[in-house]
Amino acid sequence: MDKIKRFITCLIPVHVCNFRCMYCYLSHHDNNTVYAGGIKPFATEPKEFVNFFSKERLGGPCYFNLCAAGETMMHPELIDLVYELTKEGHYTDIVTNGTLERKFDELIEKLDDNQKKHLFIKFSFHYLELKKKGMMSKFIGNVNRIKNSGISYTIEITPHDELVPFIDEIKEFSIREFGALPHITVARNEGTDDIALLTKYSREEYYNIWSQFDSALFKFKLSIFNQNRKCDFCYAGLWSLAVDLESGLYSQCYGGDVLGTFKDSNKPIKFRAIGKCRLPHCFNGHAFLACGDIPELETPFYYEERDRQMTTGEHWFKPEVRDFFSSKLSESNEVYNEDQKKKAMRWNKVIRVVCLGGKVKRFIKRLGQK
Ligand code: SF4
Repeated sequence: MDKIKRFITCLIPVHVCNFRCMYCYLSHHDNNTVYAGGIKPFATEPKEFVNFFSKERLGGPCYFNLCAAGETMMHPELIDLVYELTKEGHYTDIVTNGTLERKFDELIEKLDDNQKKHLFIKFSFHYLELKKKGMMSKFIGNVNRIKNSGISYTIEITPHDELVPFIDEIKEFSIREFGALPHITVARNEGTDDIALLTKYSREEYYNIWSQFDSALFKFKLSIFNQNRKCDFCYAGLWSLAVDLESGLYSQCYGGDVLGTFKDSNKPIKFRAIGKCRLPHCFNGHAFLACGDIPELETPFYYEERDRQMTTGEHWFKPEVRDFFSSKLSESNEVYNEDQKKKAMRWNKVIRVVCLGGKVKRFIKRLGQK
């Protein structure tokens, strides 16, 4: 049974979307330009990317999360990337609004049975937008396409206040069409400094409303929402990385240091644990923390946040994917003792001071040239 060695979250350069969901994270930033960023090529060919992040160089099979700011499946190189990652023996998911049929056909056609066992599709179930655009049957068709292909999947709703009057309708619809209730994520407001909960309800009301779906994803994600993790030691940067497919840069985490670029194909991958989190809270902790970036923290297994058993008795997750996401990062990596943790924190400080010194030097040099 494969165990997770590292978690690599990948930003796919798509800044366009065929939807305009009212709670979309893109819309929290700059309303005039958010959907106009286009689709940018990857910094290297998918094959080179996977050569850089090979199983051997990473130390074992890893989980690559593929997600764009817009609709991920619109990227013309995405399916090739999934092909290369799964061929290498890594596990991956695609975050999608589930509306591009031809892309699903292409994906199913391209992967062999073994590759399909290394993939799951994360269908974002935008109920009101699907109804508004008349695309619900397309969405259901694509979920069924994936289900019949043997690829694992999960269905997730982003909770928002406008959806509350439709909860009973959605539950009934989901049991009928998907054999189970969707999972529920937690919506954040990226326009706020503390990345607040995106709702007019109190936290308690929000919990009571959305816990009706009995989603392990929702329960865990809300339980850690707004919890600062500065007192924990986080292995992001060592056990997990954040990669930008457009620039080629990879970092410790969203708020962490840049460690290198995957364009330097001959160079070894650089790892350095962040130690102390630099964000107000770990808003994607349902993945980072459930995979085990802070091993002392009690969390569900990642599969529990994604899988559902259907009324037929079948599961959304196939056994191989379920097994892989039943493992934790600490099972395949060395856990630091207190001395090692302190050393890692000091090392981070030293590197940051050196980097700052370099920046100041370059600035002074530029001033001198003017
Ligand atoms: S606690 Fe979460 S956001 Fe913070 S560094 Fe770790 S993984 Fe990243």
